Amino acid sequence: MEQLLALIGQESDLRTVTTALRRAVERDRPAVVGALHITCSDEAEWETAAEFQRDFVEPLLPSLKVGRKAAFRSVNLGARYEAGACRVMVHHFALAGPEEPGSESLQTYAVKVNAHVGMMDTVDGPVFGRFLRFGHPSACCGALTAAVEGNRSTAAFADIADSLAAIPDDAYDFVRANIAESLRMLYFAVLHAQSQAWAAAQELERAVCELRESRARCYVVAGVAINRPGPDAEVVVGVTRFDKPPEEPPAKPEFFGLGTDPRRYQVEFDLSRLRIVAR
Ligand SMILES: [Zn+2]
Repeated sequence: MEQLLALIGQESDLRTVTTALRRAVERDRPAVVGALHITCSDEAEWETAAEFQRDFVEPLLPSLKVGRKAAFRSVNLGARYEAGACRVMVHHFALAGPEEPGSESLQTYAVKVNAHVGMMDTVDGPVFGRFLRFGHPSACCGALTAAVEGNRSTAAFADIADSLAAIPDDAYDFVRANIAESLRMLYFAVLHAQSQAWAAAQELERAVCELRESRARCYVVAGVAINRPGPDAEVVVGVTRFDKPPEEPPAKPEFFGLGTDPRRYQVEFDLSRLRIVAR
């Protein structure tokens, strides 16, 4: 867990993040691991999805078929939490758990929520919210950008605009009014990832309540994938963990992360690697 928490705010290789989450789960020695991965539909997010599959799903999840493993996945415009996803995921993977009721063996559920933001290197420094797509600068995350700009011209963008409403009004207004355009979409991605992860954590708590006599541990990781020239990277922005003891409701969640007050964020660059600190 310490390895994962040490990554909060630090731009890291995609694999560094998945490995830290995997090791945290492995240390618990669970009898079964279930996972939900939430990403944007943007083709730029394939690296994030592939790394989670390679470094978390393959080593930890039960086989769905012989030699085939898969997480429960939400792939939608803007990487929104879809109500019901955690409940269905828990119901599915609990089937792979111990058959004996009252078992003390642990079930672990991991949810990874990935907002994303493009990054372009310019003579004036890094610009977030744009990605060189097929050789042309392109909005990235396009759905989040459309929502932030108030473009509700399609139903799908209206959905993400509604999800954006989970960001507190004062945080939204502060970013719009005070943050340089080159960093604005990074801020919104950080806020969006945390708000969607919070929605997931709340439903995950309710879902593991239904496991009754079983013991469960839950991790919800909010990350922002950085779609940049070269291999993509990721900044972990929030980690929530809680336990559900047998025959009891879940304990109070522990939250570690940047939080949802953008006034506290400080963005720095260390040898072109991004660092976000919450002061
Ligand atoms: Zn997107």
